[in-house]
Amino acid sequence: MHEFGFAQQILFLAQETARLNGISKISKIKVILGEQLNIMPEALEFALCVLGKGTMAETAAMLIEHRKAKIQCDTCAIRYYWAEYGYRCPECGSRDIRIVEGTEIIMEYLEGE
Ligand SMILES: [Zn+2]
Repeated sequence: MHEFGFAQQILFLAQETARLNGISKISKIKVILGEQLNIMPEALEFALCVLGKGTMAETAAMLIEHRKAKIQCDTCAIRYYWAEYGYRCPECGSRDIRIVEGTEIIMEYLEGE
């Protein structure tokens, strides 16, 4: 389950951010989840719950926003959603493409006191 690795990163970042902002108890963590990462939100939440025990994020609620994967065609330069057309450009048929969005996991913000 690679969710644990991501959860660990999020937790580390969240605690660093909290410390820098004088927060001692995190109540909410907002995460943006790229579609291409193949992460199951439930698994990520579970991992955070397990790893967060005994930390300042122990009772934090997770808010997950999904980000669709976006592809750019390097032949004709259009952008489209991967979920709709996959890895082949719907405009010119080229496979000379790259993923420009949707491979990221971002801790957008957190709340606490
Ligand atoms: Zn194209």
